[in-house]
Amino acid sequence: MAEHLYTIAINEHFGEKCGCPVCSLYRMLEKNEIETITGAAMMEPNVRIQTNKVGFCYDHFSMMLTYGKRLPVALILQSHLEEIRDRINPVKPDATEKYLNSLEHSCYVCDRIADKMASVYSNIVYLWKNDEKFRKLFAEQPRFCLPHYRALLAASKELGKKDRTAFCEALGNITVTSLETLSGDIDWFCKKFDYRFAKEDWKNSKDAIERTVEALTTKLPQRNGDDI
Ligand SMILES: [Zn+2]
Ligand SMILES: [Zn+2]
Repeated sequence: MAEHLYTIAINEHFGEKCGCPVCSLYRMLEKNEIETITGAAMMEPNVRIQTNKVGFCYDHFSMMLTYGKRLPVALILQSHLEEIRDRINPVKPDATEKYLNSLEHSCYVCDRIADKMASVYSNIVYLWKNDEKFRKLFAEQPRFCLPHYRALLAASKELGKKDRTAFCEALGNITVTSLETLSGDIDWFCKKFDYRFAKEDWKNSKDAIERTVEALTTKLPQRNGDDI
């Protein structure tokens, strides 16, 4: 049954209780897609037709270069560039603009993950409703980032009214508590620049900016060389 495909993975990633469990599931799917596209799927004609058409976003081009070999990426680019050249027409500016606009906003890997994530969200809601053990595990999560909080709120519409209220409350309480922790850490980080607090301990605030950006966007930004 397709709707129960990700049950084992969901239980595993929620079992880690470290960061947003949905981010962790997303990263697993992303890694699988990158490995597939730079490996076996690269030469498949149907896949190539699709990658020629939609291309890749910057993040996924970068990951393909980080994790894959350079030749598969070059072969993908070779036929992708050919298709782009065919679609660009200097005497048809409107059609060319429309094509380039859709190309800028499409990515083969993002599209594949989006389809799978829709099943993941739906399965999380399904497990919460039908599996008492998972419901307990869900309540023990340390946090959900805001994009995944939003996605789970949307997925919870498949629940009945009473269940939906309980699910959204459990999900919302975890998110609110984690945001309050982040607020406290950011407050303390700012206070540390006041001379009255200069000698105090940094507590848990040194990476509060990065953790907050991660909670807002799903992505942990790179630190500069600053010690603070
Ligand atoms: Zn997340
Ligand atoms: Zn992408």
